[in-house]
Amino acid sequence: MRKKQKIKSKRKYKTERRKIKSKRRKSKRRKSKSKRKSRLQNMLGGFPGDPILLIDDNSLSYIIRLLDNSKEVCGYFKDIDGKLQIDGLTYEGENDNCRHYRGYQKYMWHIHPKGSKYYLSTKDIINVLNHENWIYSYVFTIYGYWILYYDDKCEYNPLLGKKSCVELGICEELIEEINNEFYFSSGNGRVYNKAGIDKYIDLINNLQPCLYLRWYDY
Ligand SMILES: [Zn+2]
Repeated sequence: MRKKQKIKSKRKYKTERRKIKSKRRKSKRRKSKSKRKSRLQNMLGGFPGDPILLIDDNSLSYIIRLLDNSKEVCGYFKDIDGKLQIDGLTYEGENDNCRHYRGYQKYMWHIHPKGSKYYLSTKDIINVLNHENWIYSYVFTIYGYWILYYDDKCEYNPLLGKKSCVELGICEELIEEINNEFYFSSGNGRVYNKAGIDKYIDLINNLQPCLYLRWYDY
């Protein structure tokens, strides 16, 4: 009798060990999969970390109406239940220029009004690169909007071949080259050109590891 019990408990012990082992294996697998995903995202120019937040309908139509002004307007967004709502804005001329009066925060926006170039200025990109926090810069134009995102703490694999323009100190000249190309492919930066936009995104995404650009048509 005692012998039988012993065998039984031994068997139980074994199956339990097996369960623990397979659990461990599963969690290991999950970990390496997510690591692989973030690397793949970096390689493809996807956004790692936080999800991309879209804009609340009322805020978006408010900003689109601002595009008719010739003045630049800039402001902040706040995250309300996963959608971005306007959280303060400044008109050009009110404070010297269109100024981000509360400094650099996570969600910033500004407009490129009707008649101006709809791609990003060199300064738009350099400003995002120069700030240490995670920043999402939304730029509204007459055709759609850009989201430029920089995560200065993101991990990247240098073996993937992405060069760092910050480390090389050549961001400004590279951006100017990319912008010049877009200027000519988009009727002086004023005519909608989807192929041009796609190429522009590709070039900006390859400028600096962890810097990402997206475009949304209205
Ligand atoms: Zn701008």
